[in-house]
Amino acid sequence: MEVKVVGCSTSWTNRPTSCYCLDDKILIDCGEGTTKHFDVAKVDFVSINKIFITHFHNDHIGGITEFLCHHCQYSDVAKRKSLTIYGPVGLNKHLDMLKYFAFGEEEQADYNLEDYINIVEIDNESELEFGDYVVKPYLLRHGKMRDIAYAFKRDGKVVGFSGDCTYDSNVERFAESCNLCFLVCCSEKTTPNHIGYDNFVQIKNKYKQNRYLAIHCVDRLYLNQDKFDIEFAENGKSYECR
Ligand SMILES: [Zn+2]
Repeated sequence: MEVKVVGCSTSWTNRPTSCYCLDDKILIDCGEGTTKHFDVAKVDFVSINKIFITHFHNDHIGGITEFLCHHCQYSDVAKRKSLTIYGPVGLNKHLDMLKYFAFGEEEQADYNLEDYINIVEIDNESELEFGDYVVKPYLLRHGKMRDIAYAFKRDGKVVGFSGDCTYDSNVERFAESCNLCFLVCCSEKTTPNHIGYDNFVQIKNKYKQNRYLAIHCVDRLYLNQDKFDIEFAENGKSYECR
């Protein structure tokens, strides 16, 4: 599997927010502004047919508005694939709002959105299967909000994306299962909203066979990487998991 990092930063920096592309066809999160960075990461709109949303903060879902505009208005409709969007319970409501922002009431009907977008709300940890992939969702906490981490398995390897979550035993299960793991490491210490460097290092040292890449880092960490004994994911780069 190959992961192209369109963006992995917080909304408090001028770097791209959360968006990852797996094997050129699956997006994990689509944060506000990230579609403007598709070219840098070599991601093509029309090849995307699935989007997995971790949670409903703007830096993880806000880019869906631009994504739909681009997909509908500028893509070759004949080549456009149907799109399935997965996310926590409440996804339908959030997408209704984002579709409204994208097209207003007047234009929505022009694009047959109901015909080409399938929406799947996830409320348990049952595995999903499609093509060569098995996807395991993990139900996590991000302050008051639900966050879903996704672990994608193909050819015996697992790559995972945490979204924003605090540390708990469910995160341990998720992190242990991933050969390559994009794991939140927001600041120095874990808070009710985010895993921090303290628990990130603990996980990294516990499961040494796996590779953990720090995402969603504040500038204090990201701009001082030599002070921290971890690997940081980089916007615009791609990572292999084979
Ligand atoms: Zn968040």
